[in-house]
Amino acid sequence: MLTGACHCGAVRIEVPTRPRAATLCNCSLCRRLGGLWAYYQAGTVRFSGHPEHTDGYVWGDRTLRTVRCRHCGCITHWEPLAPQDDSHMGVNLRNFDPSELEGLRLRRFDGAMSWKYLDE
Ligand SMILES: [Zn+2]
Repeated sequence: MLTGACHCGAVRIEVPTRPRAATLCNCSLCRRLGGLWAYYQAGTVRFSGHPEHTDGYVWGDRTLRTVRCRHCGCITHWEPLAPQDDSHMGVNLRNFDPSELEGLRLRRFDGAMSWKYLDE
């Protein structure tokens, strides 16, 4: 179990396991946000301060919400708008201490074009 927080600390994130990899995506939103994503089954990540201290952004096919702290602006995660049993969510590892992430495999995902991992 690993805990992260936004810059001001209003939103805290607790993931159930150390991520297996961290993903950088080049889609039109992720490249602007600079998110570093770890994926978990929706509902397995625990938050404090969400949604009380967060705002969401919904775009495109409107399947997910990208969430940020409304005080410091840090992007904390994205989550499905209508979670199903097999839904996943993305946690922004930028909110975690870098020492916790040492040695983590870094993957690049081509969300802009092919929708594939570039290392496959
Ligand atoms: Zn904050």
